[in-house]
Amino acid sequence: MKTESLDIKNFDLYLEKTIGIVKNYIQGISNEPVVANIERESLNDLLEKKLPIQGTDMENLFKDIESNVIPYCTKIGHPRFLSWIVTSPSPAGTIGEIINLALSQAPFLYKAGPVATILEDMVINWFSEMFGYSRDGGGVLVSGGTMGTLTALTIARQAFVEEAMVQGIQNLVKPLVVYTSDVAHVSVDKAVGVIGIGTQNLRKIPTDSNDRLRIDLLSKQVEKDINDGLKPFCVVGQVGTSITGAVDSLDKLADFCHNKELWFHVDAAYGGGAILTEQGKVLMKGIERADSISTDPHKWFFIPVEAGCVLVKDRKHIYNSFRTTPELFDSEKKYDYINYGIQSTRMSRAFKIWFAFRYYGLEKLSRIIGQNIELAKCFKEKLDNNPKFEVSAPIMLSAVCFQYIPKKKLDIDEHNKVQIQLLELIEKSGKAFLAPANIGEKIVLRANFSNHRTTYEDINILMDLMDKLVEKL
Ligand SMILES: *Cc1c(COP(=O)(O)O)cnc(C)c1O
Repeated sequence: MKTESLDIKNFDLYLEKTIGIVKNYIQGISNEPVVANIERESLNDLLEKKLPIQGTDMENLFKDIESNVIPYCTKIGHPRFLSWIVTSPSPAGTIGEIINLALSQAPFLYKAGPVATILEDMVINWFSEMFGYSRDGGGVLVSGGTMGTLTALTIARQAFVEEAMVQGIQNLVKPLVVYTSDVAHVSVDKAVGVIGIGTQNLRKIPTDSNDRLRIDLLSKQVEKDINDGLKPFCVVGQVGTSITGAVDSLDKLADFCHNKELWFHVDAAYGGGAILTEQGKVLMKGIERADSISTDPHKWFFIPVEAGCVLVKDRKHIYNSFRTTPELFDSEKKYDYINYGIQSTRMSRAFKIWFAFRYYGLEKLSRIIGQNIELAKCFKEKLDNNPKFEVSAPIMLSAVCFQYIPKKKLDIDEHNKVQIQLLELIEKSGKAFLAPANIGEKIVLRANFSNHRTTYEDINILMDLMDKLVEKL
């Protein structure tokens, strides 16, 4: 009997074409509109949607890619993509990922990806070393910061309630309570909901004028919850909030958590990259005292999406949370990743990180991150010197929040509307892309300089653009 396979005739030809597309995309990215000007409905109309019962020609597919896909991608690698913190992927990270996808390793078990397993161990050790964890530490690569928070809080819950994986937390007499600041990322709400604690037991503690969690108010809230018969169990500190880039006072939070016997998790999804700079090291002093840390290689380490990293100070807690065997933890033993996280079959996320870090070296990455911090300062100075604009928050890392200040006095709703209009004009120009952010009642514009391609010239282009656009408001 004859069998068929899915192999492709002329595979090498199409592969070459593919590489050509990748090459043109990356090399031409600076000349494209940052965000394509197309509505969801119209884009939907462009693409063939029927269930493909019969196959089509490769030529057709490539035509689609060139006409209907690439033009409508948001050019995240564009030097003036400055909105959300999805950073411009480094070309070495992309090369690493292309090879990785072809290899399609699945390191849930050693034998399903021997090199991928060793590389993940290695990359986790690299991150542990960067953040000051000892060799008792361990971790796992996940899809991003949201999965990072979820994974870390699952581990925290297990460390606190040993029977949680078996009995759940339905039988607990005292409901568990989690604390974070009122400017924390929504991933904390999601994680608290998913692990069965419930967002009504998440306390968002007010922050000081630098957006840092107020430990005096945290302390009061913890006392109150204890008196009310609840069980405080975890504090989530912030390194680089997604709005202003604020960094909590980690040493003081670590002291507090230690005294109260609370799990201390640090969300460094965005700010983690700054650990490679002197300034970041000072801001993050005490991070090595956290029980767990999550950071996103796909943010300020310039790795293509998806790549998140969870580190735990004592790796036995990861194993105890996710083990698939009844065996007790043995610190001498190396475990398969199926025992170290929520996923089973999984891609190798280590490969592209290993490849990019080795190619660039951390010194170079450190310079790029330092350069981003300097670009943010430069942009702030330009705004300070322009009466049409006002900086809205202190600058900690690479995020600059600011507002347009029209000559005419506006009420808050009108003022907010004008900011959104300006954002839309910037986006429609195709020349830059900024994000809106909320600071209290105010809507502000945010430029986050976590992009390896941005230059001082780009700041000039952006300032000139905004100067012109505000005339249209
Ligand atoms: C981006 C971000 C997250 C979420 O990370 P994803 O990779 O988008 O899931 C969590 N916390 C902070 C502070 C972030 O900036």
